[in-house]
Amino acid sequence: MTQDHRNKSGFETRAIHAGYEPDPTTGAVIPPIFATSTYKQDGVGGLRGGYEYSRSANPTRTALEGSIAALEEGERGFAFASGLAAEDTLLRALTRPGDHLVFPDDAYGGTFRLVDQVAGPWGLAHTPAPVADVDAMRAAIRTGETKLVWVETPTNPLLNIGDIEALAGVAHDAGALLVVDNTFASPYLQQPLTLGADIVVHSTTKYCGGHSDVIGGALVVRDHEIAERIGFHHNAMGAVAGPFDAWLTLRGLRTLALRMERHSDNAERVVEFLTGHPQVSHVYYPGLPEHPGHDVAARQMRRFGGIVSFRVTGGEEQALAVCDRTEVFTLGESLGGVESLIEHPGRMTHASVAGTELEVPSDLIRLSVGIETADDLVADLEASLGG
Ligand SMILES: *Cc1c(COP(=O)(O)O)cnc(C)c1O
Repeated sequence: MTQDHRNKSGFETRAIHAGYEPDPTTGAVIPPIFATSTYKQDGVGGLRGGYEYSRSANPTRTALEGSIAALEEGERGFAFASGLAAEDTLLRALTRPGDHLVFPDDAYGGTFRLVDQVAGPWGLAHTPAPVADVDAMRAAIRTGETKLVWVETPTNPLLNIGDIEALAGVAHDAGALLVVDNTFASPYLQQPLTLGADIVVHSTTKYCGGHSDVIGGALVVRDHEIAERIGFHHNAMGAVAGPFDAWLTLRGLRTLALRMERHSDNAERVVEFLTGHPQVSHVYYPGLPEHPGHDVAARQMRRFGGIVSFRVTGGEEQALAVCDRTEVFTLGESLGGVESLIEHPGRMTHASVAGTELEVPSDLIRLSVGIETADDLVADLEASLGG
């Protein structure tokens, strides 16, 4: 099968095969971890396969980059040391001081901190806007100055849904690019480039890696010129994924489809339990018909994913107590691994946005529903909520 054929085959086939041909010298079915910084040249400039120095390119990283590009149906992928490293490189590659960014008003806390406290002082202005409100996103654009419209969908932790196709139109009308952070959905549930987005961002730490054993990030683009600019900055800034991290992430991608199906099944069971529980005042899940983004999510996502947020009736005190009591759900930050996690966004992942317009409710709990036995997850929540 040629690379081209692989890119046109089904998602699961691409997840197993794209980005790597069995090693020509050994036949190794799985890419080796190329733990090497440099490569022997056959005469000056005589590179074998284009490899020269591992910041610029490394074969294990190349395999991961090919795989994620194929899964997102993009032109090129780039693997980074973390999701935030990918975001930083993207901002440097595609904006200049004096430019402006439209940004989700409930963005991932670390992304907000990067934009507000690192890119801000560097000279990049931003306006927060609700991703679920296309008109508000349009109104936040400063024509001529806005270079990027940045969207997360579903958002973290409130699971708001942005209409990628509509937002791509809004961005392009203003001469801006649409960036979609696809971390929560993963390429299995949603492929923003096929809906008109220009750049996909991933924290591969989450569902792509999927086993809570590696920090990584990725960018995928569909335009050749943008790929060149990002490729230049990837090498020039150097925040690249190491070969072992790339290998772990690629190993995770092989099973992404299976895992996302099970995450979605289990999340649906958890949502069913939480909805109508007397101690629960609100459940946030785009799969719920009453969720304001349900119709858009149903159109642009294959399923609704593994993240569920909910509010309890007993305020912050009860929210903290529930987080303390669960036994199958581990109290911890991050998401997207095989194990279920519980956290209190106000005190943990979103502590850095306290006191800003991005502050989250103090009675909010976020679950990353793992792939354990669904009955055990429900029983754990039942025992921890009391009643
Ligand atoms: C975790 C996360 C990031 C940041 O990624 P790191 O790998 O932690 O640097 C960005 N966006 C979203 C939605 C995330 O969940």
